[in-house]
Formats: sequence, structure tokens, C-alpha cells
Amino acid sequence: MTVELICVGTELLLGNIVNTNAAYLAEQCAGLGLSCYFQTVVGDNGERLSMVLRTAMDRSDIVLLCGGLGPTEDDLTKETAAAVCGRELEMHEPSRTALERYFADRGMEPTQNNWKQAMIPRDSIVLDNHNGTAPGVILETEGAKVILLPGPPNELVPMFEESVAPYLETLSGQVICSRTVKVCGVGESKVETMVKDLIDAQTNPTLATYAKTGEVHIRVTASAQDRKTAWKLMKPLVKELKNRFGNDVYTTEEETTLEKAVVDLLIANDLTVSCAESCTGGMLSARLINVPGVSEVYKTGYVTYSNKAKRKTLGVKKGTLQKYGAVSAQVAEEMARGTALGTKADVAMAVTGIAGPDGGSEEKPVGLVYIACNVKGDVTVKKYQFSGSRSKIRESAVSAALILMRRCMLEYFSRVTFGKKD
Ligand code: ATP
Ligand code: MG
Repeated sequence: MTVELICVGTELLLGNIVNTNAAYLAEQCAGLGLSCYFQTVVGDNGERLSMVLRTAMDRSDIVLLCGGLGPTEDDLTKETAAAVCGRELEMHEPSRTALERYFADRGMEPTQNNWKQAMIPRDSIVLDNHNGTAPGVILETEGAKVILLPGPPNELVPMFEESVAPYLETLSGQVICSRTVKVCGVGESKVETMVKDLIDAQTNPTLATYAKTGEVHIRVTASAQDRKTAWKLMKPLVKELKNRFGNDVYTTEEETTLEKAVVDLLIANDLTVSCAESCTGGMLSARLINVPGVSEVYKTGYVTYSNKAKRKTLGVKKGTLQKYGAVSAQVAEEMARGTALGTKADVAMAVTGIAGPDGGSEEKPVGLVYIACNVKGDVTVKKYQFSGSRSKIRESAVSAALILMRRCMLEYFSRVTFGKKD
């Protein structure tokens, strides 16, 4: 089945707001196994909206519109869609009651134009909006199904999840389920090579790779008559991916991020962590602290940008700085050792590098970063060469630090377990 998106709003055309709804809806539709061949952005103009809607209805099975369901004059999506589909608008009593309750709960008086939001095209399906005043609408015509959604993402996303996704699944008579195998520390092209045979042989489930900074997500999608069957179909493929990528798979849970996987590892093994950062300026700590529950394991974060700070705060030797320079394996190691000593953390991370755009040399180019990980006195230092803008280099360094930390901890555990068995 084909789906087409129409995002309505002059603000979008002028570039005043970023069209995040289109990205969200397109990704969701792909996950549901729908083919999206067209996306259009059109301003708040009835004539032009009618034109693109007619075209979309002629060539696609489902047309998803977002924006322009508000109470003001320029919000004309519903009126236009109703006219194109040849339906009159009529007062929808449950929506009117919901509007009254919405305003009463907030101690507010509705204005006259608010009632416009309870006017719904005849014979349509109404989608409740639990986060705003504009209900969503589904118009089932002879040809296409036309779905109207509110513009604000905090209204659109829950409405899509609660009402639209189940509706689309019913339409196709199939449920589409996905699981993501998240791989870290392996380059995108290597991942693609390693799964090429699986991609070439795919029918149901299908497999697709998505590159992120320092990570590749492999999405496995199956369609079946129910969730249980879809899940069963995906199981052997997920298992095969886990076999191929081993320890580089950090999770198969949708909501688990790399930093969460790292923090979970620390918590499960009762290890504390501290970080010393130069070029990443606290971003590594910030990513760890994004994870709820990190307080159990996170101790201290230093931003030691200057040489003096590295010496005074972390005890990096003046001689080391002079001989090797601040961006060197030796300094990264001393930073990680000093951090462990000063904070008594089990795991101490250190990052030092050249984020650019200036400050590089032939010997030490922009993007050169050293990361050290000290797990209970065992220090591993790795050299990286990243590319891109200053912010991209810093972001890459943070991901690399999380990946190195995870890898060093896993190696440490296997050593300890091996030692115990002996
Ligand atoms: P409202 O009742 O707030 O007027 P609406 O359904 O009429 O909602 P719009 O007026 O088109 O929607 O947009 C309202 C706000 O929603 C915009 O100012 C913007 O912040 C957000 N928004 C609209 N469309 C998009 C989009 N495609 N992507 C991201 N945000 C959007
Ligand atoms: Mg509006």
C-alpha cells in the first residue's frame, strides 16, 4: 500500500520551523511497511492545498496531512479536505463536549472560533486528541483514505501511536513489527558487508541498516497476521545477528541507548565512574548523566581544558605535556590515572583531542583524539582520527569514549571471570 504526506503551513515553506513531523511520519510509515513515494509542503492556502490533495488522492492509497487544524482563520486543512472529498462539516457532539471539558479543566473560556474545531466532515472517523483541542479526522473515500492530524508534534505523535498506527494495521490486515539490533564500534560498510547475504536473501522479515555516530542500527521488520507470529518470524534473524556481531551488539531493546547500556553495565557490576575531558568539554559526562539512575555510579566530571588544569587537577606531569603535547596517548593515560586517584572511581575516562577548525598540524591534524579508559588500574589508550566539523568531531569522540568504556569493562569482566575459574 502507498502513503503520501502533505505538511501544511506557511511557516514550513518559509523555513521558520523544521519539518520534524514529516521525518517522524515517514519513518513510522516505513516501519509499518507502507511505501511513501511523495511528500509535499504547502502553505496555508485553500486553493493550493486542494490542488495537492487531489493529486495525492489520485496516486496514493493513504494521504496523511498534518497541520492547520487549529481554531484560527489560517487553519483551513479540515475545511479544504471536506470540500475536496465532497463532505459537509457538521457539529460533532462528543468533540464539542471534549472541548468544553478541555477549557473547564484549565479554568479557561473558549472563544467563538474554538467551536470550529468540533466541526467534523460528515461520515468520518474522529481521533481523540488528549493533548490539545483539535481532534484528528479520517475520511474514507472511494479511492484514498485521507487522514488529518494536528501540527504540534506533542499532539501529533501520541495521536499517531494511539489511533493512526492501529488503523493502518487494520487496513492492511497485517501487523508490522520491528526490532532493532544495535551495534557499536563497527563501521557502517563493515556491518553492511557482514549482513549482505542476509539482505540479499530477505523476504519476510526484512533487514535494513541505519548509521548513527559510532553505531549502526540493524532494523528487522516482519509482517504477519498477529504480533506473536511476527515476533516468531524475527527471532532466528535477530539471533543470527547477535551471533555475527557478538559483544558489539549492545542491545536489542528499542529504548536502550548506548549510554544507558554503559550505565546498566556499571550498575550491574557495582562499578563507579569519573570522567576527565578536554576537547569534549563535559559532553561525555552529560551523556552519562542523561540516563536516569546514573547517580548510583557516577562520581565526578572534570573539564580540564588548559594544560595547567590537567596538571593541577589531574596531576599530569609537566614533563609529559612538554615532551608529548596535550593531545597524546601519554597525557590521556595520565589524565585517566589522575582521575581514578583523585576520585577513587573504579572506571576513569579521559579524552583529549583537537576539535578544530584551527590548531591542527601535519603531525597532529584536526580530529586527532586520544581516549583513555582506566578500569581498576588497567589503562587502555586508543588513538582516533575523526573528521567533520568541530561539533561532529566532539560528538564522535563522546560516542567513541562510551564504546571504549564498554569494551574495556567487558574485557575486564572476562579476565576476572577467567581468573576465578582458574
Ligand atoms: P494549532 O492548533 O496550534 O494552530 P494546527 O494543527 O493548526 O495547530 P499548525 O497551525 O499548522 O497546526 O502548526 C502549529 C504548530 O505546530 C507550529 O507553529 C509548529 O510549532 C508545529 N508544527 C506544525 N507543523 C509542523 C511540522 N510539519 N513539523 C514540526 N512542527 C510542526
Ligand atoms: Mg494552526
